[in-house]
Amino acid sequence: MSESTIRPFFWRATRLFGEKTVVSRTTDGEHRYSYESFGHRVQKLAGALSALGISDGDRVGTFGWNHHRHFEAYYGIPLMGAQIHTINVQLSDDRVAHIVEDASDDLLLVDPGEPLATIERLWEDLDSPDQVVVMAEEVPETELPAVGYETLVAEAEPVSEWPELNEDQPAGMCYTSGTTGLPKGVEYTHRMVYDHSMMVTTPAALGIDESDVVLSVVPMFHVNSWEFPYAATMAGARQVHPGASPSAAELVDLIGSEGVTLTAGVPTVWIDVLDELDEHGGDLSSLERIVVGGSAAPEEVTRRYKDEYDVTVEHAWGMTETMSIGAVSRPKASMAAASREERLAKRAKQGLLSPGLEMKVVDEDGDPLPWDGESAGELLVRGPTVIEEYHNRPEANETDFESAADGGWLHTGDIANIDDDGYIEIVDRVKDVIKSGGEWISSIELENQLMAHQDVTEAAVVAAPHERWGERPLGFVVPQAGADPDATRLRESLVGTVPKWWLPDEIRISETIPKTATGKFDKQSIRERLDQPDLPHAPGRQRWPIISRTLQWPMRTWSPGRSGRISMGK
Ligand code: ADP
Repeated sequence: MSESTIRPFFWRATRLFGEKTVVSRTTDGEHRYSYESFGHRVQKLAGALSALGISDGDRVGTFGWNHHRHFEAYYGIPLMGAQIHTINVQLSDDRVAHIVEDASDDLLLVDPGEPLATIERLWEDLDSPDQVVVMAEEVPETELPAVGYETLVAEAEPVSEWPELNEDQPAGMCYTSGTTGLPKGVEYTHRMVYDHSMMVTTPAALGIDESDVVLSVVPMFHVNSWEFPYAATMAGARQVHPGASPSAAELVDLIGSEGVTLTAGVPTVWIDVLDELDEHGGDLSSLERIVVGGSAAPEEVTRRYKDEYDVTVEHAWGMTETMSIGAVSRPKASMAAASREERLAKRAKQGLLSPGLEMKVVDEDGDPLPWDGESAGELLVRGPTVIEEYHNRPEANETDFESAADGGWLHTGDIANIDDDGYIEIVDRVKDVIKSGGEWISSIELENQLMAHQDVTEAAVVAAPHERWGERPLGFVVPQAGADPDATRLRESLVGTVPKWWLPDEIRISETIPKTATGKFDKQSIRERLDQPDLPHAPGRQRWPIISRTLQWPMRTWSPGRSGRISMGK
């Protein structure tokens, strides 16, 4: 019996769908080729990497956006027995240095421009690697020991026979976003990539088919671009790679010109695309579905795409530790006769667990909570696509993973309830929830209520230390352009929407709210700066679009129970 590896994915795309096209936006212009040509270049890339001394068990870091060269690396590196380690190009320098050092990458494949400049700044302090490959037509002037990707591939001997691979050998690696602490290294074996690609391709999760034209806006440096480069290839779908930091206008253009049917990305991207469509229009007639996840998809976004463009938003939940997609929210067949509002409310939840996984929510003693849509505790998941440990992090392994004897569960750090239909609803993260006088307050619910106010565009609520209550909520809001909201009135506007004792002690009007490199509110850095007059700007080069001014954020993410109590699992 052969092993579960990505080799048959490559074989299927190149042999059964060899003529299908892969299109990329690159710094050198548009690039277009067939799966067959992709296959030849992957064989040459593997040959080139061997010539550079990379072999079985080595780790090759990549530091770039979504384009055909990075896509080739997704296959060439693991097919030759090495491990591809994708690194987020939007992180601050110290985080990148930490990640490259922690992973001890043997070689780096780097995009020209800002990513290359980052590595140039860090180079002196890095112990490994000793060479970089620049993923461009030509190598720009650089002091680094650098070679050009195209030169390497042109001169390489193609690998004609792939080595025998073991399904348990590492194929990939990615670090968590670091929203609640230092990024943690997560490794994926061939079998995990195989299983997760199978999972997302099935109609019970996303249902990807060869008739699809797939545009993943999820960066290739972020959790395997939610597995699309593997799953869409295996399915034989056409693929479109949007290149570096695509703007909303570029995305709308690509969708129209390439006839994209399925696309994916974080909520801010799709909010920005709606703004672009409002202002300049665009052709979304080919588009059937948008997979939205990473943080909660606002109900209003789902509603508008359906009403105005006949596009279905598929709300998905996942983590680096679950290889991205682990749940998708879609009304069950039994809801066919339900009202539109009920169906939309289901879609706003984080969804039904994907096939292959199991879950429970537990209270602080680890006891399972009822599925009543109210009792909230920590979400625990397990399954073949959920990791069992972090790289180099024994202390986190102790707290985040149950032993096999205890069921092998992953503590997700998400606080959720599950309703009687089995839909997950995330209400907060363990590290962000506010504990006041022994009771828990949902920061997410307060943020949603604040962001629903017409004068507010962004809101973050964090725990401030308090002598009597332990912690009290403190809110930060960014006003809409042209608005001048009064903090006391904003606070009063929350009366009646949340329990009275949840009202933030203070609301500060701020110019900006710092975000992590994956576009989430960086509450850790907000908490570190509570005694300072202004919030820091985002670390690193923040290029995620900010939240739209024109949309109302969802009013409901969580309806607290009568007591507003949340149970905790950790
Ligand atoms: P980090 O944990 O450092 O933020 P990840 O990128 O792995 O890094 O993020 C996973 C987390 O993102 C989940 O644990 C959850 O808190 C949040 N998340 C993912 N999808 C959703 C979603 N659809 N709705 C709300 N939160 C989400």
